[in-house]
Amino acid sequence: MEAPAVTFPRRATRTVLVGTVPVGGGSPVTVQSMTTTKTSDVDGTLQQIYDLAMAGCDIVRCTCNDIEAAEGLARIVPRSPMPVVADIHHQYRMALAALEAGVACLRLNPGNIRNPEHIKLVASECRDRGVPIRIGVNGGSLDERLYQKYGGRVTPEAMVESAMMELAYFAEVGFDDVKISVKASNVPLMIEAYRQLSEVTDHPLHLGVTEAGPGSAGLLKATAGIATLLAEGIGDTIRYSLTADPVEEARAGRQLLEALGLRERKNVDLIACPSCGRAEVDVIKIAEEAQAAFGDREIPLQVAVMGCVVNGPGEARDADIGIAAGNKRGHLFVRGTNVAVVPEDEMVDTLVEWAEFIVEHGVERALERGDLQAAKAAAESDRAALLESQGADANASEQRVDLIRKL
Ligand code: SF4
Repeated sequence: MEAPAVTFPRRATRTVLVGTVPVGGGSPVTVQSMTTTKTSDVDGTLQQIYDLAMAGCDIVRCTCNDIEAAEGLARIVPRSPMPVVADIHHQYRMALAALEAGVACLRLNPGNIRNPEHIKLVASECRDRGVPIRIGVNGGSLDERLYQKYGGRVTPEAMVESAMMELAYFAEVGFDDVKISVKASNVPLMIEAYRQLSEVTDHPLHLGVTEAGPGSAGLLKATAGIATLLAEGIGDTIRYSLTADPVEEARAGRQLLEALGLRERKNVDLIACPSCGRAEVDVIKIAEEAQAAFGDREIPLQVAVMGCVVNGPGEARDADIGIAAGNKRGHLFVRGTNVAVVPEDEMVDTLVEWAEFIVEHGVERALERGDLQAAKAAAESDRAALLESQGADANASEQRVDLIRKL
């Protein structure tokens, strides 16, 4: 795929290395997710981590809530295909145990580990071992003292102050290998907290809308918060917190970064026309079948499914490959050039097979492979046949315009 014409300038930050994965400092924005298995279930957790890696996750977090979890981490870390972050709440000893297990990063919640001596002890250990920490402020578990100080409300200022207080404790022991998050489930609150934080620190920022919830509402909330900030250049690593299989989180994160041009495309970008009176097939059904057929396969192409050959190849001429229906046939086109004609029930299989061919051999070879003259002639004849049967105004738009004008 071609380089995007528009890019978002990134905020300058220092770099934090999570294992081998850089965060901030101009590195590609990374995708994170969190396992939902018991960390003591080593095989189950590793299976989920491998599934997350397939879905585009770069860094994974596992809870370290008891000693069995810490022991699990010791077995998981060496077999994980990506760096493992230990999630620590309340018990600073679990942070020390996770470090012994060899994790690549800790996540500490300043709202629930509050003893300065414990905080400094963990930071000293991280300093000596070269392991970074994410300060993970969460609006729902804000330090009670800050909550009261800001009038019994969670405010952006309170969240930023919580992060800066933790940074100050770390500074006392000479530790600053830190990334920060200030998550909230309220999107405007979260956006403003990150904006304010980005003004006062150059530490890389981990973005997220916490407890975004299930289904499309959760996806929308998370996207509204994360995408707004990324488009402003704020944010170096992201996590969708969905009430769903974590694979969905990783997939959503990756897709968002690809959509914003912040990561190279890894999987198919499937576009489809919205369908209209001209549609020759059930576009939704064919698009869903195509999406399922491509799945998570590494085919970094934009693929179009179009409802008619009258306008489809033209409307999707920027796609790498596409198919448009017409007269019970599928018209395959590559970068707007018709290359083949197939029976309608072979549209999806043909699309996948040619997409694989392009990934292996390139667009030029695909154009050489096609019988361009025959494909163009078939497309023109089916286009003419459709125009003949449907007329030039298949959507009855002009009739509607006439009605409007009579109002
Ligand atoms: S004109 Fe054809 S390609 Fe465009 S929306 Fe209608 S069916 Fe789809």
